[in-house]
Amino acid sequence: MKVAVIGAGISGLYAGHILTELGYDVSLFEASNRIGGRIATQTIHERLFLEMGAAEIHGNRSVIFEMLKHLDQKLEPIAGNEYVWYDQKLTDIDEAERLPDTLQKLLDYFYSIEEEEYDGSILDSLKEKGIYHPNLKFIIRGMLSEYSAHVEKVHASTLGEEEWRWSSGDKNYFSWGKYSAAVTYFEQKLKDKIQLNTPIVDVNYEGDQVSILTQKGETLPFDKVIVSVSLGVLKEKKINFTPALPAEKQKAIEDIGFGKGRKLFIEFSEAFWEGDLVEIIGGKKCPSYLVRPSNPKHIVAYLMGEASKELDQLEDDELAEVLLNDLQEIFPHVEVMSMYVSHHGKDWTKDPFIKGTYSYSTKGTLEGRENLRHPISNKVFFIGEACRTNGHSATVHGAMETAEELANNYFPDLKSV
Ligand SMILES: Cc1cc2nc3c(=O)[nH]c(=O)nc-3n(C[C@H](O)[C@H](O)[C@H](O)COP(=O)(O)OP(=O)(O)OC[C@H]3O[C@@H](n4cnc5c(N)ncnc54)[C@H](O)[C@@H]3O)c2cc1C
Repeated sequence: MKVAVIGAGISGLYAGHILTELGYDVSLFEASNRIGGRIATQTIHERLFLEMGAAEIHGNRSVIFEMLKHLDQKLEPIAGNEYVWYDQKLTDIDEAERLPDTLQKLLDYFYSIEEEEYDGSILDSLKEKGIYHPNLKFIIRGMLSEYSAHVEKVHASTLGEEEWRWSSGDKNYFSWGKYSAAVTYFEQKLKDKIQLNTPIVDVNYEGDQVSILTQKGETLPFDKVIVSVSLGVLKEKKINFTPALPAEKQKAIEDIGFGKGRKLFIEFSEAFWEGDLVEIIGGKKCPSYLVRPSNPKHIVAYLMGEASKELDQLEDDELAEVLLNDLQEIFPHVEVMSMYVSHHGKDWTKDPFIKGTYSYSTKGTLEGRENLRHPISNKVFFIGEACRTNGHSATVHGAMETAEELANNYFPDLKSV
């Protein structure tokens, strides 16, 4: 049985691997000149690599945690302290007695977000609970950075419900090795089955078979087709479906949120920040700066949602200058500029084959994810992070779980038949 997988990100690769093992004749079509999608390790030189996309392993009860361990990677919990930049001071988030009440209430709100039941946006919920204050704007942006979402667009009780469903463990891990090791593993297994630089522009499922059309004009018939492209690509209708997708699937694609964002790694000649610092929340230009032991002389600007929109016209060089000034304000006692070495960035919103960062919770998202993952006539299947319904969306392991779910539910083992 011939199966096409559109997209060779982690969900497409994992699906391709599982189905090949089960005895299917699999072909993968990848639009860009590389595989991995939103896993994008950039090697700067032999000892320096930067994770432009996924960098963390969220929890130790997940398929990616097991896989990287199996690949002999050294994984460690991200240990250290988060600081808030508020009232012109950098304060350790755990030193509650030094934080104003309003700010502490805001942090507590996000710490227990899985209990949130408000039917409206996070902004409206904060206002209704008397927690919102304009002075907290940059902290709120920072707290929402991990969701890559706008405070007015994230739906409070849906986010709460998705957080409540989360089950892969509360600790975040980083690897001393490359995240892309997982991608390389699948590449070796699937080498002769992957076609790079081959965007698929049409999926026709009118007849008994499904035919896909490449951008170069080649029509290829398959028994089943698996669509693993990002929600951003689906939202922008980069792939045409004939007949048009069922109404509930179109609605799902419109309803589920998909974030905007970019990352900029800024390298310094030495680390001038506190040794225990892992995150600064509340920068005026970038609401979330990250520091990781694997890149000890870098500060990573994690520019997501609203913050990224404000700066989206800037090229990386201009952005670096803005952020260096932002950091100078946060660290007034050091000459930040004189310690600057280089920067490397990636704007995911501008990536023509991703069109954003990852999915987030809006009002219709729970129903939307269910409808998105539902196959059409047992012929066209959808996988990828945005299809995950157990709270693991927007992650690598969530994307991989959709490939496992697909195989378990719809692709019997041909070898045992
Ligand atoms: C900045 C950033 C930081 C992140 N940080 C983390 C993190 O720390 N931890 C974590 O777990 N997750 C993180 N994520 C999320 C994680 O990277 C994704 O959830 C996951 O990689 C998505 O995999 P996927 O297979 O669903 O989609 P993708 O990786 O988007 O794969 C889809 C593939 O389809 C291809 N494609 C698109 N259009 C076509 C077409 N027409 N024809 C053929 N191919 C096409 C694309 O090029 C791509 O390779 C982060 C993401 C971003 C952007």
